[in-house]
Amino acid sequence: MTIQAVPEPATRTEHLLFLDRAAVRTCAAGIDPVAAVEDVLRAHAAGHTALPAEGYLPWANSHGAYCRSIAMLGSVGAADPTVPTAYGMKLINAATSNPAQGRERAGGVSFLFDPETARPAVVAEAAYLSALRTGAYTMSSLRHLGPERFQEVTLIGCGAQARTHAELLARYFPDVRTLHVHDLLPERASAFASWVEGSELPFTVVPHGRAAEAAAASTVVITLTITDTGYLSPDHLRPGTFVAHVSLDDLLPEVFDRAQALYVDDVELVRDNPRRVLGRLLGEGRVLAPGTPKPGTSTIRGTLGDVLTAAVPAERPGTGVVVSNPFGMAVLDVGLLARVYARAAADGHGTRLDLLGADR
Ligand code: NAD
Repeated sequence: MTIQAVPEPATRTEHLLFLDRAAVRTCAAGIDPVAAVEDVLRAHAAGHTALPAEGYLPWANSHGAYCRSIAMLGSVGAADPTVPTAYGMKLINAATSNPAQGRERAGGVSFLFDPETARPAVVAEAAYLSALRTGAYTMSSLRHLGPERFQEVTLIGCGAQARTHAELLARYFPDVRTLHVHDLLPERASAFASWVEGSELPFTVVPHGRAAEAAAASTVVITLTITDTGYLSPDHLRPGTFVAHVSLDDLLPEVFDRAQALYVDDVELVRDNPRRVLGRLLGEGRVLAPGTPKPGTSTIRGTLGDVLTAAVPAERPGTGVVVSNPFGMAVLDVGLLARVYARAAADGHGTRLDLLGADR
């Protein structure tokens, strides 16, 4: 009888690196978030990512306010030498009553997993990273699908995403001078204007009392609200406008019907969510998935990843309106966190936590 040697137990430590928002910000300042997002989008278009279905848990808190938790797993890069392999998850929760109590509406943590042991190896503040990846996606879509030239941008909704978008616009589109803004709560638009004024951002902020007025003020419209009721019709948008429909429920169906071109981040993700307008229109057959064109019916051209890999042509707004409708992919959070973590490891940022403590 042969006796197999039992390996010595590995030293019983369970370390993970904690990156708070300040550490994430410092590390993110040392990377190019748009390049990081574009690398992941190309990997996604090539099928080198995994994106399981999101976990979604809604409830109402003691104020009767809508609360939700979204758990978004993803992996990127396995079999793709152009991006670092990363496995992880974003857990992003929100309560609509938070802002009235002086708290950001959404918050959470993102993880990276050790590829060998599968243990969580990094945990990072998620809201800033999430805003950064969302803003970076918008910048990429503007770079490839936006008007050739623009100096004015409209932001509808003046919360956390609006600030990150403003920071990224200053970095990636230095010609932009004016931000037209609107918020359902005028005090939010004023707070945003004061924040810009107190920052080094090079913008003049022009608040508008009505969303339609703000939308008509420029040829780049970015929706960053939390509405679930559409309010922008084709008549509110100038010919030659690019819309980044980030908050997903601002455009009325007619905008999709009449769009010159329509791009998404992932067709299945959009289709699987009939809670959002484009998912509903796809389910009804009023908008069609790529490859199934029918004369007179709006058809999704493809994904931004398809544009980046040249599988689908990029179409900028001519006399019509080009719409980008990004559902939001966990692989972008995971891929971006991998870059942030690489910086943190190289520069010694973050706090090491020991999950076992004295219990070894
Ligand atoms: P936030 O709560 O910080 O800010 C939202 C702002 O929109 C608030 O100031 C609110 O008063 C305003 N608002 C609400 N309804 C409005 C309306 N009808 N018209 C004008 N203003 C209105 O939210 P945030 O963290 O900045 O996120 C903004 C949106 O972006 C959310 O809907 C979020 O789900 C979405 N988001 C999308 C993606 C994506 O990839 N598609 C990723 C992250 C966040």
